[in-house]
Amino acid sequence: MALAQQDQDVGVFQMTVLALDIGATKVAVGLVGADGVTHEVGRIAVPPAGVWEAVRGLLLAAANGSQVEIVGIGACGPVDAPAGLVSPLNIPEWHHGFELVAAVRELFPGASVRLAVDGVCLALAERHFGAARETPDALAMTVSSGIGGGVIVGGMVAVGHTGNAGHIGHMIVPGSTDPCSCGGVGCVEAVASGPASVRWARERGWEGETGIQLAADAQEGDRVAKAALRRAGIALGQVISSAAALLDVDLVVVGGGFAQAGEPLWRPMREAIGAHARIDFLGDLRVVPSELGAHATLVGAGLLTALAPAA
Ligand SMILES: [Zn+2]
Repeated sequence: MALAQQDQDVGVFQMTVLALDIGATKVAVGLVGADGVTHEVGRIAVPPAGVWEAVRGLLLAAANGSQVEIVGIGACGPVDAPAGLVSPLNIPEWHHGFELVAAVRELFPGASVRLAVDGVCLALAERHFGAARETPDALAMTVSSGIGGGVIVGGMVAVGHTGNAGHIGHMIVPGSTDPCSCGGVGCVEAVASGPASVRWARERGWEGETGIQLAADAQEGDRVAKAALRRAGIALGQVISSAAALLDVDLVVVGGGFAQAGEPLWRPMREAIGAHARIDFLGDLRVVPSELGAHATLVGAGLLTALAPAA
């Protein structure tokens, strides 16, 4: 460590590789080490306006005047990876598509910029450093203010035609007619995300505000809070069963803030999987919590920088 510190002090050239996580509510930036491990160096809440200006400031602070060679970006979906566009459902200012890759290239001329949806980054992170490191066929999911995911098949992370493979949040829950922010109805994100569950509980007289409060109240036995988490868990279990059958995976890794809700969410989720994932080849299906926590997308964005750039 001491030697590395000396090298930096005398200005020895070091390639700077950045990772950027554009989330629904926060943006994080990290420095990627030669070992592919990303260390977060900055984080901001997504502002209601001036999102790019805020992201630009965060990136410049992380670069700290050094030459940036590669930037890996994970963004909440949808994205158009070949076109370098992001249009996150939860960032109104970018709804119609923001040319994020071009903006980052302009900021760091000469840098190679790689973009993937956050679910692909999550899957990369779980495959390399997390719960799926020994499982070549797995589904990685995040359940928080939105629901996203990524697919690992044969050890490879599926990217898809436009970079959006693994959007499990927009699989349909049987019988649901809840309107979704994507424009559809009945998506699991509209039923089982933190905000969707809070909304459902409030309509039935629960008076809290957040998914964290809802989970705490469910743990303490509040009837409506328990019912809200049960409803979310069943919906998650139903779409997990469908996706697992489609993909023939034997592991589902579930992370995200709302997934921390514990047994009031996980028990009904496992029960629904037990009821629906009945076909023989799903007999070994395991559902486990993410080992990477809130940093998973940023870590995965860092791993994008180790991949060959798109042609
Ligand atoms: Zn949807």
